[in-house]
Amino acid sequence: MTTLAWGAVTDTGRIRDINQDGVLSAESVFVVADGMGGHSGGEVASAIAVEQMAETTTFNSVDELIETVQRANREVLDRARDDQALYGMGTTLVALVAMTVDDTELLCVANVGDSRLYLCTADQMVQLTDDHSLVEGMVRDGWISPEEAKVHPQRNVVTRALGVEEPLLVDAWELVPVAGDRYLLCSDGLNNELSDAEIEEILDETADPQEAAIALVEAACAAGGRDNVTVVVVDVVEAEPTESDPPADRVVAAHKVDTAPAEPPSDPTDETAPAAEPTSDDAEPEGEAEAADAASTELDSLSWRSFVDWRWFETWPLSWLAALALIVLVLLLVLLAVL
Ligand code: CA
Repeated sequence: MTTLAWGAVTDTGRIRDINQDGVLSAESVFVVADGMGGHSGGEVASAIAVEQMAETTTFNSVDELIETVQRANREVLDRARDDQALYGMGTTLVALVAMTVDDTELLCVANVGDSRLYLCTADQMVQLTDDHSLVEGMVRDGWISPEEAKVHPQRNVVTRALGVEEPLLVDAWELVPVAGDRYLLCSDGLNNELSDAEIEEILDETADPQEAAIALVEAACAAGGRDNVTVVVVDVVEAEPTESDPPADRVVAAHKVDTAPAEPPSDPTDETAPAAEPTSDDAEPEGEAEAADAASTELDSLSWRSFVDWRWFETWPLSWLAALALIVLVLLLVLLAVL
């Protein structure tokens, strides 16, 4: 039997007037959602995501978790279609869910966007989720360094979010619960203010999960608190020993979806809007997402697709038409001059 203990805090921060983050910490379902979009859009989107996740109290498979996130995406899209004031709203979502699948107890993770899940074992703290963000893609494609990404003016631009399009690409993992492990879910208001080392230090020195969550949010606010900050700390208190030697990252299965490479956003002034939406041809049939050689396959397809940037073809026909019209005009003038 997996027994969890948890703590959760969400805070507006020191600069913003409203908190657009959403948070859920129930018996077995933990969610952080970071809303974006003007007016009230951001907090509506993150609230919808949290509501949809809260509707299911017992999940029976990782597919069910992914489907719930996709349902939340449709709900955000529907609400934005119905209400002009909410147009363009979106939200990230990272979820950690304890469930029993075929008599095996698992912790399942779903992620869309740049909110994060960290795993802290006795040995180390690692970020399990990938950031679906512009800068993450630029680092992966070798355009900027990880150090440059940390201070990049467009580090807030996400490449995947609920409320952008259907179908939604959801990364998911199945993890083996190990007693003594600690998980941290957070919005970027935490990791943009604190380094991983600072986060790890606070988690290491604060045993109680609620106190740890409070300490993290206080530290993020003390470091500037420029964004809403949301933190959920989940401790695995007890777990059925399923394996004598569990993997270091606890991952027993990964369901990651290949993504489009990072592309410079068309409007550099818009830091909050979801950008570079993944195209539907990136979607892989559910359940067929690879785990083992995902990294190498992804790199290959990324380098190929970076070379053939489809956006050129979307914007170039207009330029070509203009050029063609100019050439025809010049030819006509030359013809007139000759005659
Ligand atoms: Ca944020």
